[in-house]
Amino acid sequence: MALLQALAHRLGGEGLNLGRRCVGVEERASGVELQFADGASATADVVVGADGVHSVLRPHVAGDVRGRFSGTVGYRGLVAVEDMPSLPDPTPLQFWAGPGRHLLHYAIDGGRTINFLAVVRVPEWSNEAWMEECAVSDAVDAFAGWHPAVSEMVGATDVGARWALHDLKPLGRWHTERVVLTGDAAHTMVPHQGQGANQTIEDAIVLADCLADAHAADDLTPALRSYEQRRRKRTVAVQWLSRRTADLMHLPDGPEVARRDAQFAELYSDLAWIHSHDAHAQQPGRSAAAGVVHGRA
Ligand SMILES: Cc1cc2nc3c(=O)[nH]c(=O)nc-3n(C[C@H](O)[C@H](O)[C@H](O)COP(=O)(O)OP(=O)(O)OC[C@H]3O[C@@H](n4cnc5c(N)ncnc54)[C@H](O)[C@@H]3O)c2cc1C
Repeated sequence: MALLQALAHRLGGEGLNLGRRCVGVEERASGVELQFADGASATADVVVGADGVHSVLRPHVAGDVRGRFSGTVGYRGLVAVEDMPSLPDPTPLQFWAGPGRHLLHYAIDGGRTINFLAVVRVPEWSNEAWMEECAVSDAVDAFAGWHPAVSEMVGATDVGARWALHDLKPLGRWHTERVVLTGDAAHTMVPHQGQGANQTIEDAIVLADCLADAHAADDLTPALRSYEQRRRKRTVAVQWLSRRTADLMHLPDGPEVARRDAQFAELYSDLAWIHSHDAHAQQPGRSAAAGVVHGRA
């Protein structure tokens, strides 16, 4: 919401149209037409498909590519710190890892509330929808025998729900001549590196740089190609690492766990390639000081 408010402030009333569902796209040599569910349409030189994991524009660009179930579901919740007397220290970002499941949590709201994501490995997801209501006790049962702080946390929500966690195989292409994908539409990833929104923002930075350097509105393809070239390798690497992180956290008890824990001790330096990345700096001729993208969303 804060992002939309910032855009509204920058673009003014005419520049931002909210509440319109795009249902179709038609691309011609002279421009792109978008059709909306309310019957309206709009034309543009270039269309950015930033419409998320269920992108309507993705099939136009990359064909019929479906999300890939990761074998994990997530239970999410917001819990008041006072409801978790067993939690040793609510302040830092924390992971709890064990065979087939893990829990991630961090404080928000000035330290008064904990936001958690509890991830559980399951054999399959058969629901058409990617989210389903469930009993709060399902999450509590999934973490039976864990530290009491974990049971308190996952059991303290009012409503139970679980999300099927999906990602996308790398797409064959990210753009046509005038339509380009960003964010989850281009590279949905599982949330185990907390990078989905961060990679989306990096996409936006790079795409803006590339379009700003385009020579003419009637030949944007080189700019879109350059954007894809600069972003593809990095996002594929983060997609892979996000999946791999869950595999490591979910290891069964045994010798590999000690190796994993030693590896995790170096996590901050190992992940510098993600968190210290300067999206602007990858642009030939641009200043590295222009903007550094750091950390979790
Ligand atoms: C459980 C979980 C935890 C996560 N934790 C983190 C985290 O800690 N850090 C992080 O960086 N990322 C995290 N992510 C990932 C992050 O939420 C996404 O990667 C990010 O929101 C993607 O941004 P986006 O703009 O591409 O898509 P979205 O945020 O999904 O936005 C797409 C927008 O397009 C609109 N839209 C969709 N279809 C249409 C249409 N047909 N017409 C018009 N508008 C349309 C939608 O209404 C929406 O506003 C998490 C994801 C999950 C599931």
